[in-house]
Order: sequence, then structure tokens, then C-alpha cells
Amino acid sequence: MSFAPLDTSASLPLADTEIASLRQRLHNARHLLVLTGAGASAESGVPTFRDAQTGYWAQFSPEEMASEAGFLAHPQRVWDWYQYRRDLVRQVMPNAGHVALAQWQARHSGRMTLVTQNVDGLHQRAGSTPVLCLHGNLMDNRWLLPPKPCCDVRFTEGDAPPQCPGCGNYLRPAVVWFGEALPHAELQQAQDAAKACDLMLVIGTSGHVYPAAGLAHIAARGGAHVVVINPEPTALDSVADRCWRLPSAQILPALLA
Ligand code: NAD
Repeated sequence: MSFAPLDTSASLPLADTEIASLRQRLHNARHLLVLTGAGASAESGVPTFRDAQTGYWAQFSPEEMASEAGFLAHPQRVWDWYQYRRDLVRQVMPNAGHVALAQWQARHSGRMTLVTQNVDGLHQRAGSTPVLCLHGNLMDNRWLLPPKPCCDVRFTEGDAPPQCPGCGNYLRPAVVWFGEALPHAELQQAQDAAKACDLMLVIGTSGHVYPAAGLAHIAARGGAHVVVINPEPTALDSVADRCWRLPSAQILPALLA
């Protein structure tokens, strides 16, 4: 995973007829690709990276908290940050945007591919299935190094972070960190859907993190109609046919009803 530079294109106004026109496109769409980012969970109370730039954790960069080098430099600090995020996610609920996506997906079996960069599990808790999770799952752990026969998650010692008592291997969150490869099968399915779709919704992502953001470029190159839903300008506005400057939990129920 890596970053791209920001494109600050001008914001576009949203008229009432826009919703009707996009609803018609949805109705006619052969295949819909949805890509979500942290903003899709903002109205549930899960901070985006930008929101997180307050309080104690703001003194650390995302790369310090979400990279193998950062973990090895400060294992307890990074582990504690993930425990904090896990506690927070346990206390929140899917919002109206998650629910609208899940209900549309259920009503239109096989016509939507839902791809998320989020690790909070809120799409799944709203009932979406399948969900292609490009960046892993916050609630799961895995071994830092390839596990040896002595590595057994049922028998660990310490909690900052837990370690294998035999070899000292650390448990770490099963999320994709900066510089790491995305899960191959999920990425391949997402890229196939980007090539095949005729409509794509890009929801709540700043569009800086690749290869996830590249899905919008693939879809646009293939002739799909690309719609960005985000209250702020994003790095993907330049490839979009429409940019709706709205919070996703506010507009998705009206769009996907
Ligand atoms: P980001 O933090 O870079 O950007 C969030 C985007 O959401 C911004 O463009 C912001 O304007 C927009 N936004 C804020 N409120 C919104 C709303 N109500 N509706 C729609 N959009 C809204 O997030 P990113 O682009 O997803 O990339 C950051 C990386 O951080 C990803 O790799 C992701 O895995 C990780 N992350 C995940 C979570 C989560 O799982 N909830 C939270 C923070 C970061």
C-alpha cells in the first residue's frame, strides 16, 4: 500500500434531479462496484485518519502506527493503539449508509461488488456479504514472523503485545500495513470488478492509498460512470463523472432505497 499526491479539483453542486438521474443509472446498471474508505464509518463514530489527528495519538504519524518498522520500534505503543481502536469499534454501530448498501446488495444478488479499505467490520455487521476487505480486519491477529511449531495463539505470554513463549514471536493485528502487499485474491476480484462494472461509487475515501484508489482509474478507463461521495475534495475527483459533496450516511439511503 502506498500514497498518491492530492488533486484539489473544484467542488460540484448537487441538484435534486441528480439523485433521480443516478437512481436511474443504478436501475440500469449491469454491475455496480462500491469502494468505501474511512469516511463511510465516520458517522458511526469511527475516526478517519484526519479525525484522529487530535488527542494522545495525534503525536504519531500513520506510518509510525501502521508499519512493521513502527511496530518493531515500539511494539507496546502500536499494540495499545490497535487495542484502543478495537475498543472503540466494539462500541459503535453500522450507520444508515452501511445499512443501505447491505440492503441494496441483498435485493440485487450478484449485481454489486463491495470493496472496502476499512478494517472495522461495520459493513459485515450491517449484513453485507460478500465484502472484499483489501486492508484486513482490525479484530483479527496474526503472527509477525512465519509461525514455528511452537507458535500457538492459545498459548501466549504478555499482552503488550502477546508473544510466543517458545520463540518470542509477536502477535500483531491482521491488517495491511504501509509497505505490505494486499491480499492477492481480494485485490484480483476487486480489479476484475473494476474492469467489468458500468457504475462505480467511491465513498468516503481520500483516494490517496493505492492500489485501492487505482480501482477508480480502472473503472473509468473501462467506460464506467464513476461517482465520488465525500463532503471534501478527493484525489479521485478528476476521474469521476460526478462528485457529491455529502456525508454518505445522509445520501446513501435516498440513493439506494
Ligand atoms: P482517510 O482518513 O484518508 O480519508 C477519509 C475520507 O473520508 C476523507 O476524504 C473525508 O473527507 C471523508 N469523509 C469524512 N466524513 C465522511 C462522511 N460522513 N461521508 C463520506 N466521506 C466522509 O481514509 P481512507 O481514504 O479510507 O484511507 C486511509 C487508510 O486508513 C485506509 O487504508 C484504511 O484502511 C485506514 N482506516 C480505516 C478506518 C476504518 O476501518 N474505519 C479508519 C481510519 C483509517
